[in-house]
Amino acid sequence: MSDLQVVVQEITDEMQAMPNRGEVATYIPELAGVDPNQFALVVVDAQGNVAAGGDADVPFSIQSISKVFTLTLALGKFGDRLWERVGREPSGSRFNSIVQLESEHGIPRNPFINAGAIAVTDAIVAGHQPREALGEILRFMQFLAADDSIYIDHKVAASEARTGFRNAALANYMKSYGVIDGPVDYALGVYFHHCAIAMSCRQLAMAGRFLAHFGANPSTILPVVTPERARRINALMLTCGHYDGSGEFAYRVGLPGKSGVGGGILAIAPGKASIAVWSPGLDVSGNSKRGRLALERLSKRMEWSIFGA
Ligand code: GLN
Repeated sequence: MSDLQVVVQEITDEMQAMPNRGEVATYIPELAGVDPNQFALVVVDAQGNVAAGGDADVPFSIQSISKVFTLTLALGKFGDRLWERVGREPSGSRFNSIVQLESEHGIPRNPFINAGAIAVTDAIVAGHQPREALGEILRFMQFLAADDSIYIDHKVAASEARTGFRNAALANYMKSYGVIDGPVDYALGVYFHHCAIAMSCRQLAMAGRFLAHFGANPSTILPVVTPERARRINALMLTCGHYDGSGEFAYRVGLPGKSGVGGGILAIAPGKASIAVWSPGLDVSGNSKRGRLALERLSKRMEWSIFGA
């Protein structure tokens, strides 16, 4: 067994023995029934070695982790013009907060809070039917993970569409400022569906490899984005990827990371590894409780914090 596999297994054992797992998200009814006892940790290193622990092949709802990939697609289409409709500053607020939007003229603080991600989705949808845009996002995920079995969980999407009044409020509010170009229903529908993409930690860690390796998947040498763009997406993940828990995540883990209310986190050790962790129970900021703890232990034991060992 490699050193990395030993560390991943150790952390998996420690997490599975932990009694306090946090609360699963209930505001999306379909997520309320997920078993909080599940745990997975997968690390893919620069050589393509995979270290996996726990429920590494069980698909879960990636939710806001999808925002990293929609941002990547939108930057590919619009380049820096995307920043005319969404900012790059941490919000210090909850992921679904509406307060800053009024004082900041409908421009969301960053692409990872819900308002920002809905604006990014609207940019991707522009000029297309929602189904085409969604197909493009799903195919991008399948391409990055080199796995065509990745799918959208339509029950989760429908569940959020039925109850997503707050996201509808955010989208309508932005529309009133002209920040959303297309029909609000299109942007929201595609947003709910890309949040409902289901992936396992193994698939997610594979999909994140381009961010860990300067924009290219090291196994295929296929460039996905430029090194500069990968660096900047990582910077946004570090500063904004955990909403009002971003400071704490940087303090404890020291890696760019993006969480989702399904309990997943994608974390990037630049030049070293792409990491996916999943534990459905959340903390008060809506970030995976055991997921963050597992990453804190991993970055410490592997000396991967970007701020030094
Ligand atoms: N789809 C979820 C929502 O809009 C995503 C939130 C999250 O994962 N933090 O509320």
